[in-house]
Amino acid sequence: MVVEIKKVGVIGAGQMGNGIAHVCAVAGFDVWLNDISVDRVQSGLASINGNMARQVSKGLITEDERTAALDRLKPAESMDELADVDLVIESAVENEQIKRKIFAQLCPLLKPEAILATNTSSISITRLAATTDRPERFIGIHFMNPVPLMELVELVRGIATEDETFEASKVFTRKLGKTTAVAEDFPAFMVNRILLPMINEAIYTLYEGVGSVEAIDTAMKLGANHPMGPLQLADFIGLDTCLSIMQVLYEGLADSKYRPCPLLVKYVEAGWLGRKTQRGFYDYRGETPVPTR
Ligand code: NAD
Repeated sequence: MVVEIKKVGVIGAGQMGNGIAHVCAVAGFDVWLNDISVDRVQSGLASINGNMARQVSKGLITEDERTAALDRLKPAESMDELADVDLVIESAVENEQIKRKIFAQLCPLLKPEAILATNTSSISITRLAATTDRPERFIGIHFMNPVPLMELVELVRGIATEDETFEASKVFTRKLGKTTAVAEDFPAFMVNRILLPMINEAIYTLYEGVGSVEAIDTAMKLGANHPMGPLQLADFIGLDTCLSIMQVLYEGLADSKYRPCPLLVKYVEAGWLGRKTQRGFYDYRGETPVPTR
């Protein structure tokens, strides 16, 4: 039986979780948003409010649609409030122990037919599913950042994911206006498997002195028609996140071609993590970004 999804729970109100709650509410789903504290849920809801206001000013949604979407969004102070949902999307921090703890607490509260999804970027769907009471109703629904803007969602089946779960998830993501691409459950799935080695190679190109930060980004923007240079993109993603995805690829696929560039490791050790810390391959503290090498 393919479950029709109407009520959605989102766990984690950070940049991805609040984006997911946002697009679900705009698409007409009732959404319950949960995090470890009321303050975090409220700050997630405040971000959604601001982001929807921006969509109204750009003419992407109307003021009435914004009001209706905000009405459909409810703070869930505890996981108990998710008992009645048809789908939960877990988007808490990328830490396997924390995700396992969330599932252990959540599963006994859910309806048996409820689907459990994770937005993990790199942890094995099969391994996470095996820790729950419903591996056949478990799936990876991997959104891209920023969620309201990016059209793609990767759907990742674990080894036990049933067809019904997959079909219901596909229908659900289409209702969000997203396009799905189906990935097998291997390290970093598809987008990050292809994108991160390119970024890592750009960092090697810098490390070996082949080009400067500016030359490499200009080369890829104008020579390969990329909207953003790879080093600029790395700063946007976060250099710690880039490093952790390269480590997942290196360890998970055991191939030396995925070894993280030592210069990437050095930037992360310095705490120069890109835009979020105001310094990475560019320094963002002034009016315009200035290359740091
Ligand atoms: P974030 O740090 O912005 O947000 C994580 C949130 O999880 C925080 O608000 C934190 O309080 C909350 N949290 C931690 N423990 C919790 C618990 N026990 N119960 C409920 N909430 C808890 O991180 P993010 O960038 O939103 O990433 C969330 C997930 O999305 C990760 O699995 C990440 O791999 C994945 N993801 C991230 C990106 C990206 O570009 N950032 C893209 C795709 C997928």
